[in-house]
Amino acid sequence: MSKTMTAVRIHEHGGPEVLKVEQVPVPEPAPGEVLVRVRATSVNWWDAGYRKGIVQPRPGVPSLPLPFQLGREAAGQVTAVGSGVRSFTPGDRVVVMTCPACGRCTACRRGDDNLCQDTQLPGHQRFGGYAEYVTAPQNGLLKAPDGVDFETLACVLWSYGTVLHMVNARARIQPGDTVLVTGASGGMGTAALQLSRLAGAQLIIALTGSADKTDALLTAGADIALNYKDPDIVEQIRAQTGGTGVDVVLDNVGGPMLPLAIKASRLGGKIVLAAVMGGRTAEVHIGEVFAKHLDILGTRASTRREQELVLQFAAAGKIAPVIGARYPLTQAATAHKALDAGSYVGKIVLVP
Ligand SMILES: [Zn+2]
Repeated sequence: MSKTMTAVRIHEHGGPEVLKVEQVPVPEPAPGEVLVRVRATSVNWWDAGYRKGIVQPRPGVPSLPLPFQLGREAAGQVTAVGSGVRSFTPGDRVVVMTCPACGRCTACRRGDDNLCQDTQLPGHQRFGGYAEYVTAPQNGLLKAPDGVDFETLACVLWSYGTVLHMVNARARIQPGDTVLVTGASGGMGTAALQLSRLAGAQLIIALTGSADKTDALLTAGADIALNYKDPDIVEQIRAQTGGTGVDVVLDNVGGPMLPLAIKASRLGGKIVLAAVMGGRTAEVHIGEVFAKHLDILGTRASTRREQELVLQFAAAGKIAPVIGARYPLTQAATAHKALDAGSYVGKIVLVP
């Protein structure tokens, strides 16, 4: 095996051009770690946020290091294991967990391992998948189900795991519910369309700002696609629900979507907030929130169980990530340009 590998790293924050293709040493797996030959990794908003330098660590955690190797999601084959690793052997097909958990902290012992406070997120607190090889702790890997290709495996844990937590644990979508999905054309949005359907939603309305994405959204699972820029968008949504408003809003945008979601919700509706790329703040009419008896809920990551479940759903053909574009890893900067421009539907995959 070669001692060097191709990796894409950043040495400074900025535009897509800060992503540099480099030859670097293949990492050695430390005790308890596994070395993975990455066969696919994907590009998402976290990667872009870190690249731009706008993702900040939580209080008490040191500044994020440079140079850094992005890549929240990755799938591949085990090529070597460190001492003490018993769960994996070379040749195993694996997926790097986007939300590994320590299993020991108060949150983990309570069963809320999506809230683990002693975690090292790949591509965020430790090197991610933008390389031919990456190491991961053995408790930060899941065995890949047979019959699911690496590109799919690199696109399900983050988007679908996070959205499964939104749909089941937070919104608790029931059979027959009406669901509004904002930012519907992105990775999270297309996952929200499919997982809402799997939970039994009877009417799924996709919101987009691009009329040319309507057909793709219908193909991805929406019943109706509407343009949030239409001045009468709230009336259009209410008209689709017999005038009452939707049961659930899954917001993957932030900013102005919250006041829109409040207006589009039925009495007693639920709104789950999962993103800020459309804006970190919003002005809301507090009276509308209490008078409509609304639940406005945050959501964070996904549990190990939820990450295992989405792999099972993929193996059973119940979910299928929409892959909007593929690039060789060496064209990561081009992939990030496409991500920044939003010029695609679904996920962008990088192949090392
Ligand atoms: Zn923990």
